[in-house]
Amino acid sequence: MLDRSVFERLVGLDAADPLQDRRHLFHLPQGITYLDGNSLGCLPHSARRRADQAVAKEWGEGLIRSWLGAQWLTLPGRVGDRIGRLIGAAVGQIVATDSTSITLYKVLNAALDLQPKRLTILTDQDNFPTDLYILDSVAQQRNCRVRRVRQDDVAAEIDDTVAVVALTHVDYKSAAIYDMPGITAKAHAVGALTIWDLAHTAGAIPCDVDGCQVDFAVGCGYKYLNGGPGAPAFLYVAKRHQHAARQPLHGWFGHRAPFDFSPSYDPAVGIARFLSGTPSVVALSALDGALDVFEGVELATLREKSRRMVSEFLALFDAHLVSRGFVLASERDPKRRGSHISFSHPQGYRIMRALADRGIIGDFRAPDVLRFGFAPLYNRFADVGTLIEATLEVMEAGTWQREEYGVRQAVT
Ligand SMILES: *Cc1c(COP(=O)(O)O)cnc(C)c1O
Repeated sequence: MLDRSVFERLVGLDAADPLQDRRHLFHLPQGITYLDGNSLGCLPHSARRRADQAVAKEWGEGLIRSWLGAQWLTLPGRVGDRIGRLIGAAVGQIVATDSTSITLYKVLNAALDLQPKRLTILTDQDNFPTDLYILDSVAQQRNCRVRRVRQDDVAAEIDDTVAVVALTHVDYKSAAIYDMPGITAKAHAVGALTIWDLAHTAGAIPCDVDGCQVDFAVGCGYKYLNGGPGAPAFLYVAKRHQHAARQPLHGWFGHRAPFDFSPSYDPAVGIARFLSGTPSVVALSALDGALDVFEGVELATLREKSRRMVSEFLALFDAHLVSRGFVLASERDPKRRGSHISFSHPQGYRIMRALADRGIIGDFRAPDVLRFGFAPLYNRFADVGTLIEATLEVMEAGTWQREEYGVRQAVT
């Protein structure tokens, strides 16, 4: 058990937290300590209201008139611009659309088209699997090659053979943050372009894609952006590339004039050319509503709370869990770590199942990593204590040994 004074201190931090009121903007299930907002964000009341409105009024009553009357036509760009505030992008450079995998497919092809003489895509060997799969499949289609290197070697491997450096800004396991300004500048110095995946960045860790002169970026709508399961992803194309950049999935919503029904494709001017088919209006509306929770929030405040929650976790982890066989699998340097933490244990999967049965939700990443996200808008400092205490109890009572926890479920 944790000493009561630990909880008293954490509760004191919550009382002084400038973001404490934001928690009420979310539906948070009773009896659950949710530490998985980096996998699927909680439901904001505003997302539900906005989705209800899109279904009942805009679809139900407005029907096809809502393309103009409810401005469905411009929704991907309007939602994109709202996300832009969170990642340092001026308006007109982002659309919310597709899934992260597909947006990566689009921008990678666009970037490679801009680099006709170069055939190498450089990435981190531990990048998120879907990113690796997409890079490989594009490389296969185009006779390019993917150079997968260790995180520490990425900077040194950027040379003038590299067409595109494609990285995930915050590592999905370790939460280590890449030096976006440094890597982007190094890439540009040798004529390479950059694609940043901001799946674990947007909504938790501020970044400045315009300021860093990032070329392309993609990211996820259902993690810290709380857009709901399968929410549209987003893609960013820097203004300076938009005229020359082409994406490979030509569809009518990326056409200059979709309702001319022209038999030949003529890409829209600007970011809209990165759309393909009809937008998922209901899902986009939910994401649009979800973004209300960020209104009026200073990103520096968000970052500071996330950083502080992870620090509190690490102090308790060192004091209580290391001696019980847990090994930290996360970055320690506060400047270089994101908003989640990972640690490993040989019985990691069973321990995670036992924690879930006690209402502590995180996720397990093979082979032995337990991962917990701290979403600064709705997690409390007290949640850190709850997690540590529940883990201690599971270890002491040995509940992780239950037979049913030995069977791997389809989603971990
Ligand atoms: C979550 C995540 C994705 C998700 O991809 P989808 O195609 O949207 O399912 C992609 N990349 C990274 C780095 C992620 O963390």
